[in-house]
Amino acid sequence: MFLSDAQKCRPPKKPVFMRVFGSFPLLDNIRYYFDFIKPCTNRMITRKNRKKRPCFLYTGCGMLVIVQKTRISNTKFTGVSGGLFNLMITKYSTKKPKNQEVITRVVKYLSLSGQERFRDCANWIEFYANKEADRLKVSRANFCGHRFCPMCAWRQAKKDALKIGVLMKYIEQEHDKAFIFVTLTAPNVKAEDLKTEITRYNKAFMKLAQRKAFKKINLGYIRKLEVTYNEERNDYHPHFHVVFAVNPSYFKSRDYIKQEIWLNEWRDVMGDVSITQVDVRKVRKNENGKEVNELAKYTAKDSDYGKSQEIFDAFYLALKGRQVLTYNGLFADANKLFKADKLNNYIGIDETEYVYMLLYRWGLKEYVETERRELTSEERQKVNRALLDEVEVEDE
Ligand SMILES: [Zn+2]
Repeated sequence: MFLSDAQKCRPPKKPVFMRVFGSFPLLDNIRYYFDFIKPCTNRMITRKNRKKRPCFLYTGCGMLVIVQKTRISNTKFTGVSGGLFNLMITKYSTKKPKNQEVITRVVKYLSLSGQERFRDCANWIEFYANKEADRLKVSRANFCGHRFCPMCAWRQAKKDALKIGVLMKYIEQEHDKAFIFVTLTAPNVKAEDLKTEITRYNKAFMKLAQRKAFKKINLGYIRKLEVTYNEERNDYHPHFHVVFAVNPSYFKSRDYIKQEIWLNEWRDVMGDVSITQVDVRKVRKNENGKEVNELAKYTAKDSDYGKSQEIFDAFYLALKGRQVLTYNGLFADANKLFKADKLNNYIGIDETEYVYMLLYRWGLKEYVETERRELTSEERQKVNRALLDEVEVEDE
């Protein structure tokens, strides 16, 4: 959160209040967290704050407490002494209601059993947890796996982020290659043209990859299709994020492709002179977090496609059945190795020591812990010191 590491290590003298943007649906059950909040003499919530949206109370111990304006209006609080409430389950609790919003939009595209799977997605989640129960790892759950399920799309993004990071590391180290990050865009289109526009992007990209100058430098790429919605103009913005693997000598070679050439070529293959921008960047060695995030995060944001049925339909029909993440060349080879567990030495070890199994069930507005037991020694052995299976992504 916006505090330095030093501040994180010790609880701050005063709780820090921050405004929360967006909706946080789990706020009604504030009583559940009362145990962890001690009364104090200072009036922490001012009259002015009360009128605002709910606040996060940052405890300085890696925990967040969410407080709701109506319940805390006359109560005084100080820091938090400890407890189960943690960022990880909060995240799940913000995704599940979004799934329930989207079900009303996706329902007409699903069979009865599909609707049921989507609706019941993550009704229960079983987690491995550490001693403090603030680090969780999914053991089992009834996820639906649908592309337009906000819960499942988020989980997929975390898995993709891990994989893409590993592929890049492998290609960088084993093959001694460097990367460039390119964003290809075109002017926005209306809903009715979105589907054909994406097809046009795909074709144009294939043409681009066949051009002599690119064939010379391209050793493989990962390409991600992303579509955003512009509310003001009520139109859609499909675009590609691409990481190309190149020889480290590329940047100083005569095959180097200048930004204006990228732009010209992209205009040419798209047959569209109105394109004004192509963003090209060198990916810094061992610092590819931002690029990995761009490639891994959702193709479409639920905050976009959840806005109305009309918008949902546009996204759904344009993206249905479409491959959104494409691997080529060195990346395609690396992807095969990854799937065959042959790149495991590039995956980090999960250092968390898991001791509990927690069962969370979806309540009315949040996940509630309903069962807790200690892990057996076999279970501990299996889950501890295992490879990471996901990395966090910045969403929204
Ligand atoms: Zn789901």
